[in-house]
Amino acid sequence: MTLTVHSTPTPADPAIDAMVAALPKVSLHCHLIGSVAPGTVLDLARKHGVQLGRSAEELYEHGSYEDLGEFLRVLDVVGSLIRDPDDFARVTYESLTAGGAAHGVLHREVHLSPPGHPGVPYPTILEGVLAGARDAEADTGIQARFLVGICRERSGAAAVELVEQVVAHRVDEVLGIGLDYAEVNGPPGRFVEAYRLAARSGLRRTAHSESGPPDHVRVLLDELGCSRVDHGYHVVDDPELTARCVEERVPFTCTPVSSDIGRYSGSGDGSHRRIAEMVDAGLLVTIDSDDPPMFGTDPTHDHRVLAHALGWRRDRLADLTRNAVEACWLDDTDKAALLARVEAQVAVTPDAPPAPQEDPA
Ligand SMILES: [Zn+2]
Repeated sequence: MTLTVHSTPTPADPAIDAMVAALPKVSLHCHLIGSVAPGTVLDLARKHGVQLGRSAEELYEHGSYEDLGEFLRVLDVVGSLIRDPDDFARVTYESLTAGGAAHGVLHREVHLSPPGHPGVPYPTILEGVLAGARDAEADTGIQARFLVGICRERSGAAAVELVEQVVAHRVDEVLGIGLDYAEVNGPPGRFVEAYRLAARSGLRRTAHSESGPPDHVRVLLDELGCSRVDHGYHVVDDPELTARCVEERVPFTCTPVSSDIGRYSGSGDGSHRRIAEMVDAGLLVTIDSDDPPMFGTDPTHDHRVLAHALGWRRDRLADLTRNAVEACWLDDTDKAALLARVEAQVAVTPDAPPAPQEDPA
């Protein structure tokens, strides 16, 4: 078990800690490359004879990424160290067990990024991650499914090729596709053809919209056919679009700590106001960790920071997990089974005392 040094410190509060540790979690926004523990990065570098030139802790100096570009280059280094089926099995297993089940995660839809592993054939990735997921489920009961992320910094043609690979090597565990990396370098409209191919092939669709304007969310829904949105914080800048997303129950997979560090969900002041605004607007919000060790967080800690910043307690946080059950890509029978597991765990989760009321003056 690795010790996480949280990048967003919270006051010591045993009642909140007990509550957030016990809460069941359903994880829809966590990237495999972003989940690799520092010690594993070092092991993989050693195994493949790569000189990192710095400690893994230095590599993950969370909170100090100058910008998204710098963070993405760290991601590239880690991705390039995961090469053979054993590597993929290991990082998948660790992400799902120590990084997932140990935090009460019952179900995770893992974002894979084949373009982040240069020279590694997609079937090699698949072989490893499926083996890792099988072992993790056998050992802890966590259930994993996968989606394949298109790198939006590349061309529309490269995206089509990637979706063709996914279709050619279709397995039940891969439910859909996503779109990530820097939004500023890849507007969503570039990927219409890849998303149409995915739709024709029966794949579910999501995409990141983190820094982009509300219009990007519109493109995701209307042109890419997304059934959920990763981040999507700017939706609330557009009341008409917000009303539509409330009405259509469009899920938004929010990641409090990583987005606070990246200043996407507000001012980067730890207030998480943007997420509160989305919930208050009636949007279907879910909570996850994005790239946990790289941002000094984990699934429990993302819930902890909301408990402290927003005064949310068991029932409100449990509602976000129920949202994630609704938003996940399992079929209705499996969703009902997952919801039953969630409710059983919520029922034995201790609540923390209400947050002190702010002085109305
Ligand atoms: Zn993400």
